[in-house]
Amino acid sequence: MATIHRDGDLGLLDGKVAVVGFGSQGHAHALNLRDSGVEVVVGLRDGSSSRAAAEEAGAEVAPIADAVRGAQVVAMLVPDHVQKGVWESDVAPNLAPGAAVLFAHGLNIHFGRIAPPEGHDVIMVAPKAPGHRVRELFVSGAGTPGLVAIHQDASGRALKLALAYGVGIGCGRVGLLETTFAEETESDLFGEQAVLCGGVPALVQAGFDTLVEAGYQPEIAYYECLNELKLIVDLLYEGGYEYMRYSVSDVAEYGDLSRGTRVVDDSVRERMRGILEEIRSGAFAKELFSDDEAGRPRFAELRARGEKESAEIERVGKELRELAGVEGLHGTERLGVR
Ligand code: NAD
Ligand code: MG
Repeated sequence: MATIHRDGDLGLLDGKVAVVGFGSQGHAHALNLRDSGVEVVVGLRDGSSSRAAAEEAGAEVAPIADAVRGAQVVAMLVPDHVQKGVWESDVAPNLAPGAAVLFAHGLNIHFGRIAPPEGHDVIMVAPKAPGHRVRELFVSGAGTPGLVAIHQDASGRALKLALAYGVGIGCGRVGLLETTFAEETESDLFGEQAVLCGGVPALVQAGFDTLVEAGYQPEIAYYECLNELKLIVDLLYEGGYEYMRYSVSDVAEYGDLSRGTRVVDDSVRERMRGILEEIRSGAFAKELFSDDEAGRPRFAELRARGEKESAEIERVGKELRELAGVEGLHGTERLGVR
């Protein structure tokens, strides 16, 4: 059974917290901590487009190096692929002795791209929600669940510090679940690759292509394979498999039970295990980081290929979403999955 904490001693955060970055997570952490009575300075690079938003929200803003100097906790809330650069240029050289370094995702620490020296607590507090929800729910008096993990416990009280921070951003109101950097990072990567961002969209695309190739209208294929997915996911989210199967017709349920595992069969599970192994061995991280360092040539290639493969479903999807008034319903803020 997982260990879940709801309490933390905010009094432990009696120094300055430097929140580096004011994006999705950064703005929520900075403002929630401030509203919890913690001294917060937002660290931004010169010319940051987030400066206006941070100042408008009444946050104290400083260049990253200045925010980091003298801080008790430094929260690394810039995008994962730029963290190494920001760490090397602005954070590491200015870190106060004994300062804790905090992450909201374990990627760079777990795979060794950033290796803080001994003497610093290295902790994770990761809300299981997109930043705007973390802020919105906090303001409404509620909170979001969060994960806490310790990579390096130099002070002997790293967990207590992480819990204090988690309470400060409002996760204590729901629960802070203890995990490790390895578990958070590996399961996060696996979930997004095999199921959420990789698997499901690929399944939708394959279903759409199958119908269109067989001569069905793309609009019909779109409704069947993509639009209705939301309805099914809502049912699963609200009441699990049993509720979904109860809500759909018996015909749909019979089709599900007799055909689903023919599509997602043991060979798919075997490849999922392969994908998990690439993550655990560090092969995926190595590939990702080296492409990043080379200026992302492979990423560009993959994006171009993805665009080409989804051109038709994107074309009809845009039309049909505009018709239904749902195009861009959630604005441009990225939701949930990183
Ligand atoms: P983001 O893309 O929303 O934030 C970017 C911010 O970083 C910008 O506002 C800017 O201030 C700054 N920034 C961007 N490029 C920079 C650069 N080159 N140099 C200096 N500063 C730069 O990031 P995010 O999605 O909030 O992610 C931050 C961390 O939180 C990541 O580790 C991510 O994995 C984690 N996380 C994100 C979410 C989420 O909902 N987005 C959820 C849980 C954890
Ligand atoms: Mg993820």
